[in-house]
Amino acid sequence: MSGARMVLATKNEGKRREFVELLGRLPLEVVSLAGWPEVEMAPETGTTFAENALLKARRAATGTGLPAVADDSGLEVDYLNGEPGIYSARFAGDDRDDQRNNAKLLELLATVPRENRTCRFRCALAVVTPAGKEWVVEGTCEGLVAFAPRGSGGFGYDPLFYLPEYDCTMAELPPEVKNKISHRAKAVARAMPILQEVMSV
Ligand code: IMP
Repeated sequence: MSGARMVLATKNEGKRREFVELLGRLPLEVVSLAGWPEVEMAPETGTTFAENALLKARRAATGTGLPAVADDSGLEVDYLNGEPGIYSARFAGDDRDDQRNNAKLLELLATVPRENRTCRFRCALAVVTPAGKEWVVEGTCEGLVAFAPRGSGGFGYDPLFYLPEYDCTMAELPPEVKNKISHRAKAVARAMPILQEVMSV
């Protein structure tokens, strides 16, 4: 470990670990906001994934004095003009209920043929330094909304996210494959050179 420390704008240890795995060999110590109980997560009041990621990273950088990274992600369905988008977690209510979210999506697309079920996962990653320098990168992963849920891996919309080139849903993919092709993996890959510059590693 080089002593270079950055904070991930989450209180969720699982998310921190996933991020550390995606960062691979960068000699960075990635801490979460769990060590700063007085620093609250910024509310997601933006109108885009990028704005929300920036809001969260800014709050974490000013609250901790460390370079900060934040992500915001969700599902965009073309037939629904990009919905649920930034509202992906609370599509069917306020409670992050994956099953209800998926049921609502299936219902809205019940009569929609395969060729019009195109969708993508999008992830925005913001990097903000305590001195106020800011970057945002994005990664996407294209797919189709399946006609029924399949698979038990992953979370959120994974059982309904069909990948034609793999002929399975995201929830049926081994985690190591998802971690190569996902919107988050692509966004992290794009953020690598920025992090190397910011952290001088
Ligand atoms: P957040 O960026 O962690 O707040 O994710 C917002 C919501 O987007 C999640 O609650 C999921 O509903 C959805 N989502 C984001 N990434 C994924 C993914 O990789 N698989 C399935 N659903 C996702």
